[in-house]
Amino acid sequence: MKKIKCPQCGKKTTWEGNPYRPFCSERCKLLDLGHWLAEEYRIHVPSEGVEEIHQLPKEEEESE
Ligand SMILES: [Zn+2]
Repeated sequence: MKKIKCPQCGKKTTWEGNPYRPFCSERCKLLDLGHWLAEEYRIHVPSEGVEEIHQLPKEEEESE
């Protein structure tokens, strides 16, 4: 049996017959996926979106 170390919690687990590999459990798999998605989200937030938010109140001010 191939033994692996869970990258999330460091617990030793087996590769064969493990549906959550390379993690030891579903919890660790989801935790790692959550971290990964959070990183992706941060990278893909466009700086344009932030500028749009700043421009909106300014436009309102000018029309009034
Ligand atoms: Zn784990």
